[in-house]
Amino acid sequence: MIFQPAHLIFAAGTAVYLVIRAVFQRRAASGHKAVSHADLRDRLLVVLVGACQVGLPAVLMLTPWLDTAHYARPPALTWFGAPLLAGALWLFWRSHADLGVNWSVTLELDRDHALVTRGVYGRIRHPMYASFFAMALAQALLLDNWIAGWGALLAVGLLYRIRTPREEQMMLESFGDAYRAYMQRTGGVVPRAIPRS
Ligand code: SAH
Repeated sequence: MIFQPAHLIFAAGTAVYLVIRAVFQRRAASGHKAVSHADLRDRLLVVLVGACQVGLPAVLMLTPWLDTAHYARPPALTWFGAPLLAGALWLFWRSHADLGVNWSVTLELDRDHALVTRGVYGRIRHPMYASFFAMALAQALLLDNWIAGWGALLAVGLLYRIRTPREEQMMLESFGDAYRAYMQRTGGVVPRAIPRS
């Protein structure tokens, strides 16, 4: 089997992504849950995003099953995809580092959950989802396949559309005015130019 450079770059990025997640998952595992909206729909979204981020590229690289969805990708796209992937991984790592034990893969809050509004959470409320969007775009730029390349962008878009309003509602119910004020001065995945009055 011959691996293309762009595929290898994406595979290396995925390995870094999985290591970051595994390290922080261990740190965050212990908290007692006070609030949970971790229903089947939310768990299915998590599985869908993971399958599109990691599963489809693995199928592309290791099997011929997605060959019919192949297209000729301009090799120069690697020069955009690789730095974007590196930037996305940095933001993913910083989001985990700033949330610390206050992270959960689903919609949950610990009994002693603290609202984080510093670091990469200072100007946007969803830096981790922003990193997912950037990683998915890098995936589309690096993989020469309609399904394995673009699937993650669709899945992350769906996660953002469905989960973000529920997550913000949960945060508002638990943190009230502190989260309301935080929402006024921050953007979702793009920093706000002028604070909302
Ligand atoms: N939406 C955020 C976090 C994703 S992880 C981002 O994109 O960066 C989802 C979990 O993180 C939520 O269930 C909640 O437990 C926690 N969370 C989200 N925003 C938070 C914040 N500002 N402070 C503390 N915890 C937060």
